[in-house]
Amino acid sequence: MKYIPEPFKIKMVEPIRMTTEAERREKIAACDWNGFGLAAEDVYIDLLTDSGTGAMSDSQWAAMLTGDESYSGGRSYYHLVENAREIFGYEWIQPVHQGRAAEKVLFPVLVERRGQVVISNTFFDTTRAHVGLAGGRPVDCVCPEGLDSGLDAPFKGDMDVDRLEDLITEFGAGEVAGIVMTITNNSVGGQPVSMANMKATSEIAARHGIPVVIDAARFAENAYFIKEREEGYADKSTREITREFFSYADIFTMSAKKDAIANMGGLLGVREEGEHVPDVKSLVIAGEGYVTYGGLSGRDLAALAVGLVEGLDEDYLRYRLGQVAYLAAQLDERGIPFQRPAGGHAVFVDAGRLLPHIPWYRYPGHALAVELYIEAGIRSCDIGSYLMDRDPATGEQQRAPLEFTRLAIPRRTYTQSHLDVIAEALGEIADRAEQVKGYEITWEPKVLRHFTSKLRPVD
Ligand SMILES: *Cc1c(COP(=O)(O)O)cnc(C)c1O
Repeated sequence: MKYIPEPFKIKMVEPIRMTTEAERREKIAACDWNGFGLAAEDVYIDLLTDSGTGAMSDSQWAAMLTGDESYSGGRSYYHLVENAREIFGYEWIQPVHQGRAAEKVLFPVLVERRGQVVISNTFFDTTRAHVGLAGGRPVDCVCPEGLDSGLDAPFKGDMDVDRLEDLITEFGAGEVAGIVMTITNNSVGGQPVSMANMKATSEIAARHGIPVVIDAARFAENAYFIKEREEGYADKSTREITREFFSYADIFTMSAKKDAIANMGGLLGVREEGEHVPDVKSLVIAGEGYVTYGGLSGRDLAALAVGLVEGLDEDYLRYRLGQVAYLAAQLDERGIPFQRPAGGHAVFVDAGRLLPHIPWYRYPGHALAVELYIEAGIRSCDIGSYLMDRDPATGEQQRAPLEFTRLAIPRRTYTQSHLDVIAEALGEIADRAEQVKGYEITWEPKVLRHFTSKLRPVD
């Protein structure tokens, strides 16, 4: 596959350090075989996440120097609001310190009674947690294609609209506090949602008087997938697509650390300045800071205002999605299985199939992540049974439907050669796959164990 070249040149570089295999074995053993414990300096290519790890442009850095640090009504705030209003078409734009802060503010306002349900095409972890903390019950409702890793389909992130209708009937419309559409659908592998599906979901919600929320972290990647894959959108700009998509919802929450290419930040948008905004403002002031800075420095607001616009640039998006597709094609050439088609921000390698001799309870996704570090200094993470906490009631280890190792690609950060290094390293591992060992956990915390667990390899 042809690599789509970078629509930028490099003005500033950050050295990354090569290490030897012996050094890497020592480092990973010293942090009990958990990559989260590694010092970033001991990593050559860091694919742990694409969140807040992208490279800012010269325009973003220039904007930071002119950031207005006024407590109230700063220039950077107005610049951000103006850009965001123009892109999304929403009246109220609230900056917050990151995506989960927007969720923390929104769900207590949306969920009016304990036990109300919130339905999503699949919740991201923090969104699911905040629905729960607000007293709501999160329910996932992704289309069946989304759960079939081998199937090549254009919009595997879609909501299952038939099931959505059934769920609303089952619970009663009054018991559904909201519908959340995650774009792209992160937990299903960065798979996009089509305009048709968004519109259908919005029509069902409107019929039952249920508010629709977009979890908009990767809104620009989703817009470009629609342009490439959905009939009738090839000649529309990503801005026009975004404007139409957001017209089918009432509220959005957004982590600006993804498509807005900022290192920190988030947004909450409300289409009409109606009943929710006063409550949102109160919670923001109590938890984040005054409404015109929302937990961010003026310079962060300034970088975010510029990043929102750059993230929608079509030359950039073609290159961005092209990078992920290129890496996937390199893996394909080496017969390495992954979730198809490649998503917008990451390739999910099917470690369960690559390492069939490692049973799910010896964590193949984690084993491959460790091996990739030892092989070439590449850091990635498990999205499989290791990530699943134990059943809170029985303490039993839960099994994930699939055992993935996620290779998340930071924005504007690595080159084609880096992607080749990743593919070659995986090829080397595939050639000696049967020698890769599984892992057992020697210590774990009660929740979110994958960040801090200790492990050791087992034969
Ligand atoms: C990253 C992310 C969030 C949370 O945002 P943070 O900025 O990490 O708090 C919420 N939803 C989705 C889909 C995300 O990818």
